Order: sequence, then C-alpha cells, then structure tokens
Amino acid sequence: MTNKNYDLLVVGSGIVGLAHAYEAKKRGLSVAIVEQNASCTGASIRNFGFVTVSGQSSRDTWRRAVYSAQVWRELAALAGIKILHQGTWILCQRPEAVEVAQAFLRTPMGADCKYYPQASYLNLESLGFTNTGSLHLENSLGLLYSPHEFRVESKEAIPQLASYLQNEMGVDFYWKTEVLSIEGTSVHTSNNRLNAEKIVMCPGAQLTGIAKPYIEKHDLKLCTLQMLRVKVQDGFVLPGSVMTDNSLARYLGWSELPEAKVLQDRIAKEMPEYIKEGIHLIVVQSADGSLVVGDSHHYGSSEDVFASERIEKLIIELMYRVLNITEHAVVERWTGVYPSTNAYDALIEKVSSTMRVAIVSSGTGASTAFGLAKDNFDEWLG
Ligand SMILES: Cc1cc2nc3c(=O)[nH]c(=O)nc-3n(C[C@H](O)[C@H](O)[C@H](O)COP(=O)(O)OP(=O)(O)OC[C@H]3O[C@@H](n4cnc5c(N)ncnc54)[C@H](O)[C@@H]3O)c2cc1C
Repeated sequence: MTNKNYDLLVVGSGIVGLAHAYEAKKRGLSVAIVEQNASCTGASIRNFGFVTVSGQSSRDTWRRAVYSAQVWRELAALAGIKILHQGTWILCQRPEAVEVAQAFLRTPMGADCKYYPQASYLNLESLGFTNTGSLHLENSLGLLYSPHEFRVESKEAIPQLASYLQNEMGVDFYWKTEVLSIEGTSVHTSNNRLNAEKIVMCPGAQLTGIAKPYIEKHDLKLCTLQMLRVKVQDGFVLPGSVMTDNSLARYLGWSELPEAKVLQDRIAKEMPEYIKEGIHLIVVQSADGSLVVGDSHHYGSSEDVFASERIEKLIIELMYRVLNITEHAVVERWTGVYPSTNAYDALIEKVSSTMRVAIVSSGTGASTAFGLAKDNFDEWLG
C-alpha cells in the first residue's frame, strides 16, 4: 500500500483527464492520474480524432476549441503524434446549406474560412488544394472550407500523450487502479491509498460510478455512436476531413444560426431515417489509407450494446453520395459512448474547495478538453 502525496490527483486517463494533468503540470503541480483500466479504452480512443474549431458552439466552447487546437499542435510536435490531415471540407448540397455556410462566414467564427461556389471548383487545385477529385463535388452547390481542423489517430495519440506526460512532464500514472472512494484529501483505490491537495474527477461516460452523487442532478444521458473503418480502392486520398449539409444542421456553431432552421426542416422531410438515427456524415482518413466513417447518435440512460446493420448501411450510402469511391470493405466496427445534455456543452461541478468533476457533455472532448482544463484551473487555482 503506497501512501503518496500529490498536489493534484486526476481520476480517469481520457483526454479530459490528460488535459487536466497537462495544465496542472504547466502550473508546477505534482500530478497523478488514476485509471481503472490498463489503458484508456473510453470515448477518447473511439472517436474520429477530429480536432475541430468550426462548428463548435459560439462563446465558451468555440474559445476552448481554439485554445485546445493550439495545445494539440504543440503537444503533437513534442510527443511525436502525427497530424494526419488538415482542414475540413463541408459539401453544401442544398441551397439552404449554402445560406448557412454564408451566414457562418459573416460571424467572427467564420473569419478564416471560405466558401467556394460550384463555378470555382475547377480552380481549387490551382489554389493549392489537392485530391479534390476524391469528392463528388459535382453533387454539391458549393463548399465551405475551414482551415482550422486536423486529425490525429486517437488510439495511438492518447497513449502517446500519456507517455509524454509520464516521461517528459513527470506525471505519475496508476493503471488498473479504480478510485473507490474519496474522503477529503484521501483517495482510496483498489490498489492503494493516495493523498492529494486537490482532486479532479474526469470519469467520462461512467455516470453511475464514483462521481454519481455530484453529477446526478444534471440528469445526463448517454449518447451511443456507431463507427466504421473502411478500406477503399488503392490510391484514394481525401483532401481533408469531410462533412455535409447534415453537419451544418447539427453542430451548434452552424445550427444555432437563424438560417439553419429551414435547412433542418428540409433535411427532416427528406431524410427522416437519418434524423431518427441521428446520422450525419463525417469521414476522416488514417495513415494506411483507410477511412473512419460515422456516425449515428442514440440517446438513453444506458449505452446501446448492439450495433445495427441498418445504421451501417445508411452511413455507407451517404458516404457513396459524397466520396468518389468505387469499392469498399468494412474492416472494423465499434461503438462509443459519451455523456450528453442539451443544457450545456461541458460541466465543471465544484464539489468542495478540494474536489471537482469535469465532464464534456456534448461529444466534443477531443476538441475542447485543454480549454476546459485551463478554464477550470484559471478559476480554481488562480
Ligand atoms: C464515437 C465517438 C466519436 C467522437 N468523435 C469526436 C471527435 O471526432 N472530436 C471530438 O472533439 N470529440 C469526439 N467525441 C467526443 C470525445 O471523444 C469525448 O468528449 C472525450 O473523449 C471524453 O473524454 P473523457 O476523458 O471525458 O472520457 P473517456 O475517454 O471515456 O475517459 C474517462 C476515463 O475515466 C476512467 N474512469 C472512470 N471512473 C473511474 C474510476 N472510478 N477510477 C479510475 N478510472 C475511472 C475510465 O476508465 C476512462 O478511461 C467522440 C465520441 C465518441 C464516443
């Protein structure tokens, strides 16, 4: 039984926990992370690895995303994490989507983004864009390009980040160690007892565990997502991450614009099955050329255990409408789960002067965790 003392103890080694550890080390604190599994197996390694800025809801979440993208880039260089591709291509297939894209460009969040109407598609390569032939641009009226986004391979990047924090920044990790209870500054785990001046719980979707008494009042739901990895024809290269009208209607940074209402109404009429399953298309590419494609959203009080073939078919159908692919084979299928509420994008529950809970409740943690951790400590530690 060890009985070590730390300035900060973090429960959970997902991106929210890692971001808190990083921000605490930057402030000179001694830090430990306690993780019940042998490695992070939660949402943080099941996601697209799509670090997004455009589309994040205005105010805090967008500001946190801008900060987080900058930290990701710095840490990627230091920790040897590969940035796989940059920029997002949002194909506008309906006139209503074009209206949303143009309205977005008039907001401060649209500052560095650009809209390319169909008439300018032939010039895209001369503007420095490559691999534009990978998209069915002919099926779209225009495209909204955002330069801010990039992609990391989460199942590699999260362990790399943990190793960097351990080896280069001196964070202690206690793997296969579940936090069972906390009394004041004393933390009782399945393996040992630890002491910490401050404790932050970052339990992700584990809403019924150690954090339950402090977060149950928020009435969080669980959102289950279905994801695929597909192999397509050799030589296929995406110009960047890809989304469509459905994402303009869904992600708050666009959907909260007044112009989005008519787009949402039209999509609801034209794609009822997709709306029912919460499907919108995101496609990103891995170093081996395979594509990570998703996703669907089911909300409930527990995780959906069974992945549906029908949902998979709907996602693939959408993929064929947008990508110039001739063949595909699904090589991996998985589901992921995150906590969700419409009330806010993330919550910092101030339990006491020594304990807090930090949860991203909008499925945007890969994009916002560093900003959330910074806000938490700026306010808590001064
Ligand atoms: C399929 C999918 C796709 C997504 N795509 C994106 C995307 O592309 N971009 C984006 O920004 N966001 C995306 N998200 C959301 C993002 O992945 C999450 O918001 C983020 O990973 C949440 O991180 P977390 O650290 O809170 O949770 P998690 O990654 O789930 O980590 C929580 C950790 O806490 C541990 N834990 C819990 N209780 C205890 C305890 N008592 N003791 C010890 N350990 C404990 C768990 O074992 C777990 O490892 C996606 C989510 C999913 C599911």
